[in-house]
Amino acid sequence: MTSWIEISEERLAANYRAIAKAVGSETAVLGVIKANAYGHGVERCAVALARAGAPWLGVTTANEGAQVRRALRDAGFSPDGLQSLLPQGQSPLGKQPQILVMCGFLPEDVETIVKHKLTPVVWTPEQIGWLHGSGLAVHVEIDTGMSRQGVRPGAELDDLLVWLSNAGLALDGVFTHFCAAEVAHCDLTQTQERRFEAAIAQVSEHALAPLWIHAGSSSTVDNPAQASPWLVDLAKSVGARAMVRCGCALYGYCVPIEGADATSTHSRLSSSLRPVMMWKTRVLSLRDLAAGDSVGYNATFTATAPMRLAMLPVGYSDGLRRELSGSNERPGGWVMLRTRNAAGQLSEHRAAIVGRVSMNLTMVDVTGIADVQFGDEAILLGDGITADDHARLAKTIPYEILCGVHAG
Ligand SMILES: *Cc1c(COP(=O)(O)O)cnc(C)c1O
Repeated sequence: MTSWIEISEERLAANYRAIAKAVGSETAVLGVIKANAYGHGVERCAVALARAGAPWLGVTTANEGAQVRRALRDAGFSPDGLQSLLPQGQSPLGKQPQILVMCGFLPEDVETIVKHKLTPVVWTPEQIGWLHGSGLAVHVEIDTGMSRQGVRPGAELDDLLVWLSNAGLALDGVFTHFCAAEVAHCDLTQTQERRFEAAIAQVSEHALAPLWIHAGSSSTVDNPAQASPWLVDLAKSVGARAMVRCGCALYGYCVPIEGADATSTHSRLSSSLRPVMMWKTRVLSLRDLAAGDSVGYNATFTATAPMRLAMLPVGYSDGLRRELSGSNERPGGWVMLRTRNAAGQLSEHRAAIVGRVSMNLTMVDVTGIADVQFGDEAILLGDGITADDHARLAKTIPYEILCGVHAG
């Protein structure tokens, strides 16, 4: 094994609690574990979040939902104990969270959805046709501006609600997704909120009473400008419970909020989160360079003085982004190297990546770090070098970095 991932279930639970505290007791938190829990491992994260009291988990596909149901059952949760409308933090031990299949399904998935008591997100007449007669409870997504999933408020929603009732499906939840939750004061978010309100009013006109109304993601919770009771008020107005859906924050990350008032006294969620994933590797060999020796493809780094490098057996095929390469002109990323002295005391050192990150190998500068040995651990991602650091260098978002880690 050239690299491996260590997951802190304590940190995951602590991050969940921090989110629950930030949103307050009137809003539930759905733990988003889609895409293999953002690269963290969907089974372990599902079990840890269920233990932390998450009433809902959100997965990508029906198959991922089935995998989660099996993992929860194997961890000792009752196979059929579903729950609804339980006050936050009071999900009784032994009951499984409900599982929302967030990213659509096809007819061949219906059997899995029914068998594992999953809750599908629906927004098209076709989907309702496939579920006809299943007696399932569903969540309807409202498209308020994303133009991906979701039914548009107005005639389209009216038709869908009629079909839903005719197909014998129960409307358990209604939700929408914001396009720009990380922008502090965003006109589009306000427009989306108005459209969502209109959709909820329409649902009430059809005499349907969903139990859950949900909107918002990690950025919504972290965004000081959105710390309003809007969602709670909206949910209460139709006798439902409010919920936010958080992924990134669970794993310890939030993207910066654009235009947030730096002087605000609002205590930000992001300040109380810690990274759940530690991606690690080991030093495979060491090499001493003389001044003038170059390193790696295209010789983008040349030693200007004697130096010592450690070789790490990871590269871009493992998800270590090539943009972390370090040249003489432009410093790149770094790792946190853990060494042990003769007395066995552990210490941690920042070691810069030098030269190009290649497919399976990366060189780091360990000049002046005492006691470096073959087999020493290096943290590629986690404490001291975060997904935010990687994302900044790779000009992307921490989400893509986390999902892109392929340990093994
Ligand atoms: C992925 C996703 C979320 C979670 O977003 P984070 O920014 O990771 O909190 C919430 N809602 C929907 C619909 C999503 O697809």
